Amino acid sequence: MTGASTYDLTGKRVFVAGHRGMVGSAVVRRLASENCTVLTADRRELDLTKEEPTLRWLEANRPDVVVHAAAKVGGIAANNNFPVDFLCDNLALELSVIRASHAVGVRRLLFLGSSCIYPKHAKQPMAESELLTGPLEPTNEWYAIAKIAGLKMCQAYRRQYGDDFISVMPTNLYGRGDNYHPDHSHVPAALIRRFHEAKLANAPSVSVWGTGTPLREFLNVEDLADACVFLLKHYSSDQPINVGSGDEVSIAEFAMTIAEVVGYEGSLIFDTSKPDGAPRKLLDSSRIQVLGWRATTSLREGLASAFEDFLQGHGRHFTVSRAS
Ligand code: GDP
Repeated sequence: MTGASTYDLTGKRVFVAGHRGMVGSAVVRRLASENCTVLTADRRELDLTKEEPTLRWLEANRPDVVVHAAAKVGGIAANNNFPVDFLCDNLALELSVIRASHAVGVRRLLFLGSSCIYPKHAKQPMAESELLTGPLEPTNEWYAIAKIAGLKMCQAYRRQYGDDFISVMPTNLYGRGDNYHPDHSHVPAALIRRFHEAKLANAPSVSVWGTGTPLREFLNVEDLADACVFLLKHYSSDQPINVGSGDEVSIAEFAMTIAEVVGYEGSLIFDTSKPDGAPRKLLDSSRIQVLGWRATTSLREGLASAFEDFLQGHGRHFTVSRAS
């Protein structure tokens, strides 16, 4: 079962929920080259965690397609420190957006999950069938449980009502519009910022969290956006589908690549008081590859353009310091 299907986006009204986030904004950029109308709602205009206003907004704007990219996201420390926000905000967003989409008769909905839905010791690379086969990684289980609930909602609406709602599980992401908060960000944004600031300050060393041994797969967010458009057009199934790049590196190698991209020449110090998280998270992306899609951005070129975007101020929660 490949889930292959055909859906034409031409002339459709596509609502991107979460269009200010890293993923949502990339999806909006990618949809600009499709012949469709992109709908977005400003946060001041609509609180997507509230079902009534969300329902009214969807009734008034009548999208054919919804991309649910609105989420409370953050790195390993944020997940650990704000379990209520990661669990409850994400559940509230899913209940509101997915239920309201059903209520107004949305034809296609794409729900964005995460590779952290798979068990901590899942078989690697992780196929979609690893879902719910073992305990989760404790540092992000709050977020993972909410994302599993979201994909189960999509499956439930398909089973009970025949709604064409799909779930997409991306691997670790980076790129334009990332969150550069020093403590709450994911590792790519955290290290881009820390190495850049260390370079400007001529600091002899930079701290990298954990042992440096965990393995992660990184995907540029523009590639994910391209995969989302591809899946909207070509995939229909109750089974979630993975989107990875195959670019797997240890955190130590990843940190060295960022140091090179940023031009930082000092040394790296591994802070083992900080958690490593999952030992390895490599997705098995063979299902989307069989359908005909592959990531095209190499890690080094993607990080170089993420750094350029960072310098241009295309990120959140930070002010870029520049050498005078
Ligand atoms: P995860 O994939 O859910 O663990 O997400 P993260 O992107 O937060 O972390 C990935 C890995 O990078 C973990 O092993 C972290 O310990 C490691 N890491 C190293 N330095 C940092 C940092 O400054 N910030 C974050 N968030 N992670 C870091």
